[in-house]
Amino acid sequence: MNFKALWTQVLEKLQASVKRAQFITWFQDTAILRYDEGIMVIGVPNPFSHNWILANYADTIFDLVKEFENGVLKIEYEVHSSLCAEHAHKVDVKKLGKTLKKVRKLPNKNEVKLIEGISSKCLNPRYSLSNYVVGPENRLAHAAASAVCVRPGSTYNPLFIYGGVGLGKTHLLQAIGNEVLKNFQDKTVVYVTSEKFTNEIVEAIQKFDSKKFKEKYRNVDCLIIDDIQFLANKDRTQVEFFHTFNELYDMNKQIIISSDRAPKELAGLEDRLVNRFEMGMIVDVQAPDFETRLAILHRKARECEALIPADVIEFIAQYCSNSVRELEGVLKQVIAKSELENTMPSIKSVGEMIQKLSPKVKFVSSEEPTDLENHYAKVAVSIQDIVKAVAKFYKLSVDELIGTCRKREVMLPRQVCMYLIRSELKHSFEKIGEEFGGRNHTTVMHACEKMNDSLKVNQRLAQELFTIRKLLSV
Ligand code: ADP
Ligand code: MG
Repeated sequence: MNFKALWTQVLEKLQASVKRAQFITWFQDTAILRYDEGIMVIGVPNPFSHNWILANYADTIFDLVKEFENGVLKIEYEVHSSLCAEHAHKVDVKKLGKTLKKVRKLPNKNEVKLIEGISSKCLNPRYSLSNYVVGPENRLAHAAASAVCVRPGSTYNPLFIYGGVGLGKTHLLQAIGNEVLKNFQDKTVVYVTSEKFTNEIVEAIQKFDSKKFKEKYRNVDCLIIDDIQFLANKDRTQVEFFHTFNELYDMNKQIIISSDRAPKELAGLEDRLVNRFEMGMIVDVQAPDFETRLAILHRKARECEALIPADVIEFIAQYCSNSVRELEGVLKQVIAKSELENTMPSIKSVGEMIQKLSPKVKFVSSEEPTDLENHYAKVAVSIQDIVKAVAKFYKLSVDELIGTCRKREVMLPRQVCMYLIRSELKHSFEKIGEEFGGRNHTTVMHACEKMNDSLKVNQRLAQELFTIRKLLSV
């Protein structure tokens, strides 16, 4: 039985009755693991999915499976965290269904051209240069990567990208691979981790065919080696790599390398290798600053098709500052939890989650140290809170308030609302404009100026604002 084909058929049918965002959250990284004597075991990536699928979809899945595989007597579910990585039977649920084309555009089939005998971890089309969020801390790396994609094997050769864990090195390397293949379909791209590279060499040595190995690598147009630091102290591998490097370099083939530290700091690596790395372009990626973190979170939330309040995203960006991987991890958990409990994530629930994940995180506001509860109290007022309060006060719906209606009875409350968000939360005019259906920042600016002026002369308006503020503080 072809597990993957069967599971694909089942999911294809199932997705018609599940909301897409939920479908992706819960069925990504699932697979049929075993089928034995009528009992089918389905692997799920985490306990969240396990509980949720069991509670909501066990019967439907059973019926669907039975349609295709009549002999099934029982379905069991098993948590397999390794499913998050690669698994032979796993189905990429994001590729299922027709809605996909509308929602996301992945680089089209970037088949990695493999030379016979070289096992290379395939490039993952998920990584592209266009979905890499650029900020001051990775701008140069991104620019160098883009240049390599246009003219591989010329100026930036080798390209050496270094930086801490989870800061996007693998993403960039894979993106270059994808892009080069897109631009030059006849080129051979090989992406390999230095561990894998080492294993291949060891294997070749054991089989006494290191010559064959060398010849094969010689045909590569673009060699990408991830996490080169693992070559440290592996002398024999370094020798082989040195030769491969030189040959490719002499033939103007592109070499791209990543490492967790700068070439000079790579202890345990031969000097002559380090010298080679320094012949090309060396760029680093640093931890993202607040704005980049925010942009990354917005982008990833969009990619997951999840709706998360802007203040919650800001909160995550504020407190997860170590790496992009951490950011992604928290975001995924937030999405999973909110789907599971069918609630909108709030600062409070997310704060608790972050604290559980990393108990050392201290929630402090920029002005004064405060405990978590105080922090919540301080930030409890979000844009949404203000919008709701203003709408309620003026007896309008939220949609009317942030909509485009230009009647005076809507326009004034809208200005009040913008003014309050500005004065209470100190958000930028741009951001407030975005919250109000993508209005221009000058519109917001005028609204605030107008309110400022009116408040000086209009006693009633001042009273109204006072009341709304009071509504907000309870
Ligand atoms: P590294 O190889 O440096 O340890 P990765 O490339 O594996 O880090 O990045 C970890 C995760 O963060 C990946 O899912 C990657 O897509 C994502 N990521 C890192 N940097 C960015 C960025 N600038 N924009 C978008 N996603 C990013
Ligand atoms: Mg990596």
